[in-house]
Amino acid sequence: MDEIEKNGGNILAWNPDRLARNSVDGGRIIYLLDTGRLASLKFPTFWCDNTSQGKFMLNMAFGQSKYYVDSLSENTKRGLRQKVRMGIFPSQAPVGYLNDVRTKTIIVDKKRSKIVRLAFERYVKGNQRLEDIAEFLAKSGVTTRTGKRISKTKASFILSNPFYIGLFKYGGEIHEGKHEPIISKKLFDEAQEMLKFRGQPERKPQNEPQPFCGLISCASCGMMITAENKTKRQKNGNVHHYVYYRCTKKSKVVKCPEMSLRSEKLDEQLSSLIKKVSLPKDWAEELNRLALQDYKNSTPSLTACVKEKETKLSVILQKLERLLNGYLDQVVDEQDYRNQKAKLLSEKKSLEEEMTSLSHK
Ligand SMILES: [Zn+2]
Repeated sequence: MDEIEKNGGNILAWNPDRLARNSVDGGRIIYLLDTGRLASLKFPTFWCDNTSQGKFMLNMAFGQSKYYVDSLSENTKRGLRQKVRMGIFPSQAPVGYLNDVRTKTIIVDKKRSKIVRLAFERYVKGNQRLEDIAEFLAKSGVTTRTGKRISKTKASFILSNPFYIGLFKYGGEIHEGKHEPIISKKLFDEAQEMLKFRGQPERKPQNEPQPFCGLISCASCGMMITAENKTKRQKNGNVHHYVYYRCTKKSKVVKCPEMSLRSEKLDEQLSSLIKKVSLPKDWAEELNRLALQDYKNSTPSLTACVKEKETKLSVILQKLERLLNGYLDQVVDEQDYRNQKAKLLSEKKSLEEEMTSLSHK
């Protein structure tokens, strides 16, 4: 087209719809005909002379091909939306599921769903990295759709895909699916916790915080008390681990004379202090008995429990309804709507699961 614009020329094409699928391209061709840069335009399937009638026909043809493209995309989108509304994920099923071509639904892949469940169970134990999960999936013969090895990122994607608990994400929004969940909401939540926990960038590996750190300060200088792990190796091969508490000695005015102290010694010191305010044994026993009695009386019956959850569930359903109305009335913006909806659907899944387990009991 640039060439014709510069030096003039002719076009030979199969059909006008091969030349332009949007109004700008079509307009450009007709404009070049108008200005005479484009001398002639020939199609084996379509009549077009460089006359007013020819240009009129060409315009119609361009319009028609644009209409075809527009309506195709509209119909496709409408079809997808319809599927989503019915709770069917309108795309390729994730690992552990299969697309049933016959019924156009998504069904559980019996063999692989077990492997996916095992991967979740392994991961929540906390002693496996994402790499290990990817390795496990690879060894079990699970690959990506294109047959590639599952990567660390993909493993993370699998472990956080709400599809496995019966929801699915489409168009940036969480929907309730008709497909059968293969992971319990509880297990899924545990995996999310673990992903969050293990995803944290830096954890102090050496000195775990000790129980009294941050609670007590030095009597001599007033600075906080800190603790350290010490390992003692004896010549005969015995290894001892000790915890020492000591003053941080951060004060610039007082030169603190205090030494460090074994945690067992500190426990003794604290116990002797607490003794002064502790309960006499017979009081403690009596109070314990009363507390237990109170607890027993307050334990609600199972049916009351179910009832309560049903109420909560109906509240969530109402909230969802109201949220949708708010969104449709354009009171709630799209981002808020999506976030809130995802949260409510997650709560709903938890409740439904709890109710099922209660009814089993
Ligand atoms: Zn001190």
